[in-house]
Amino acid sequence: MNESKDFLRTIVEKDLKSGKYKEVITRFPPEPNGFPHIGHAKAICINFGIARDYDGHCNLRMDDTNPTKEDTKYVEALQDAVQWLGFDKGKNTYFTSDYFPRIYDYAVKLIKMGKAYVDSLNEEEIREYRGGVKEAGKRSKYAQRSVEENLDLFEKMKNGEFKDGEHVLRAKIDMSAANMKMRDPLLYRIRHAHHFRTGNDWSVYPMYDFAHCLSDYIEGITHSICTLEFENNRAIYDWVLNTLELKLPRPHQYEFARLGINYTVMSKRKLLELVKAGQVSGWDDPRLPTIAGYKRRGYTPESILNFCDQIGIAKANSMVDVSQLEFCIRDDLNKKVPRVMCVLAPLKVTIENYDGYEEIDASYYPHDVPKEGSRKLPFSHEIYIERDDFMENPPKGYFRLTHKQPVRLKHAYIITCKKVVKDASGNIIELKVEYHPESKSGSDTSGIKVKSAIQWVSSTHAKTVEVRLYDRLFSCEAPEGIEDINLNSLKIIKNALIEPAVIISKPDQRFQFERQGYFYADPVDYTDEKPVFNKIVGLKDSWGKKTKSIRNEAKKVHVTGEIAPMSEAEKVLFDKYTNELALNNEISNILARDKQLSNFYKEALSVFNSPVNIANIVANEVARELKKTSKLKFNTQQIAELVKMIDDEIISNKISKQVFEEMVKYGKNPSVIVEAKGLVQISDPKKILPIIDEIIAKNPDNIAKFKAGNSKLLGFFVGQVLKTTGGKANPKVVNELVAERLENV
Ligand code: ATP
Ligand code: MG
Repeated sequence: MNESKDFLRTIVEKDLKSGKYKEVITRFPPEPNGFPHIGHAKAICINFGIARDYDGHCNLRMDDTNPTKEDTKYVEALQDAVQWLGFDKGKNTYFTSDYFPRIYDYAVKLIKMGKAYVDSLNEEEIREYRGGVKEAGKRSKYAQRSVEENLDLFEKMKNGEFKDGEHVLRAKIDMSAANMKMRDPLLYRIRHAHHFRTGNDWSVYPMYDFAHCLSDYIEGITHSICTLEFENNRAIYDWVLNTLELKLPRPHQYEFARLGINYTVMSKRKLLELVKAGQVSGWDDPRLPTIAGYKRRGYTPESILNFCDQIGIAKANSMVDVSQLEFCIRDDLNKKVPRVMCVLAPLKVTIENYDGYEEIDASYYPHDVPKEGSRKLPFSHEIYIERDDFMENPPKGYFRLTHKQPVRLKHAYIITCKKVVKDASGNIIELKVEYHPESKSGSDTSGIKVKSAIQWVSSTHAKTVEVRLYDRLFSCEAPEGIEDINLNSLKIIKNALIEPAVIISKPDQRFQFERQGYFYADPVDYTDEKPVFNKIVGLKDSWGKKTKSIRNEAKKVHVTGEIAPMSEAEKVLFDKYTNELALNNEISNILARDKQLSNFYKEALSVFNSPVNIANIVANEVARELKKTSKLKFNTQQIAELVKMIDDEIISNKISKQVFEEMVKYGKNPSVIVEAKGLVQISDPKKILPIIDEIIAKNPDNIAKFKAGNSKLLGFFVGQVLKTTGGKANPKVVNELVAERLENV
């Protein structure tokens, strides 16, 4: 736990001390509509962590009120995540659906109190009637229905006598409330759908705002902790519990900042898209930010807990640098795991003056790691080293093997290169070397100076293994989805060579491969016949340079404690953004809290009315530039123009990033840049189809696999087409055309 207490723990302590609650009871309430991700890990750490720290308990509750998207497999993944992170998930998993009968009764009670009514406006009318931030809403004429009529209609809704959307149940609160969420919020809607637990029992389903507070109350929750975007919903939460005059003490809602990580998408919906499109191998693809993905990749629960602890709990949304998570796993494994040798790109080395065989006693840990253990390393006449560890024409500062420079074989002897053997096309295929008998590691009396020690394996004793090297799944810092995928995020090495000790060890083991990184035996694909290792993380932060400035920013947000809530003016803006302009909560939060950004947004919007897309670019790209400089080279007019080009499908989203970079540098108009660089989006099937056909022709193997049922290869083909066009092809069109073509090959 952090030294300094976070604001939530401060509240919990106060409430326990004052006797407001006898025991702290929290809950973690995910919707089972996808696999949990690292953001959920943060929420799990907070809720289960607080319960544990104060001897209370935490309920794992499925917020299963949306029948069309939920599934048992997601419930299992959520249970597994909690357990894997080391928390007690309890004997029971709770389900909001178990409370449907009671929640229904509470709704009936509200109707009888004259506090809820059946409304028959359609969705659009409801939105219209709600009014705007500056203008009061108007109450529906149906609000005048009598209690009897409401009870009758609501029962008929329940019995399935109406179609979806025909009626809704609403709370009767205040159509001119400053908090727009309080303008007669919806409590129930009609849904004729099969629910994975209640089957077809129900035709009406409670809305989050009604179900959540009541579920909390039913379970005796004391502190209901959720993310910031629910700040304005707290008023409804309290209204429901107070109006129903429920027994004290009632639960209270508190909000904290959502976790966002760069180079990552973090919503179950976006992750589901990647899974469905076959861009990843499944929810547990080691490149995904899902708990199942981290687990399969080899992350330890400790590293994730540490990460959550480091980022702290704050009240302002922020973006955390992904390298911080990578640091946590590296830091955890550094002292824990054995160090072994694996050669990824083998180059044969014959030691001409050695024809015996010996086993070298080699420690698994360096001197500064307080752990013991060693293995016998077979050493023989023929070994393999890493191709990169020899150079004929080395640059300055190259410390490994060259014609002139000897090198140490880690744990073993120093070798000197005598001869380079090449094939007909000039590729180096073998080195003939000499070893120095007095140079054995630990008892070196040779006096020979070397500048480094390299990994190696003995050729007859080494085992062939598959190694999967992962890079970040997205190539840009604030990815939107599939179009920003890093096409080189997975590299498979089929024939790496590893020392034999690694193979006979137990499964579920992590290693450091000397000089390569940390690796984990893949829990799904590893077999004795074909061992497979996943790269967990490299030894150093290879993206470090690029991300330095971000890291400094990330540090700034590691504050724990309370950051000023929104001012009244900011709240008004936030409401306007979320309610009138339909921006999501995070974007609204960023814009509303920053005067410069909200002004920029307003101006751009007055030029071209595309609220969501302009907001996205202002809250991400423009905000980023404003952090670097106070003098932008581009203006609101140009941003509006850029968004218009995206909306008109003249350029793709991906290309717009490229255009934006040019605008940042030179302040030219986007249309001029697009024209000059030939960046116009390709949407014409006549231009795209030949490219598709070419790629199909080039990949007969993948076509065969696709036909044999590997539908995931759809994503591969789409990716190739996008890559071939340098990102200019319209992804939507490409998706459709590829799907169509593959159906018919
Ligand atoms: P998603 O958009 O990924 O579906 P969600 O907020 O809809 O996320 P839920 O399954 O409803 O996800 O969330 C369960 C709990 O986890 C909630 O209390 C939610 O606030 C929290 N949570 C979800 N995402 C994050 C995040 N990125 N950081 C912190 N907490 C999160
Ligand atoms: Mg959700």
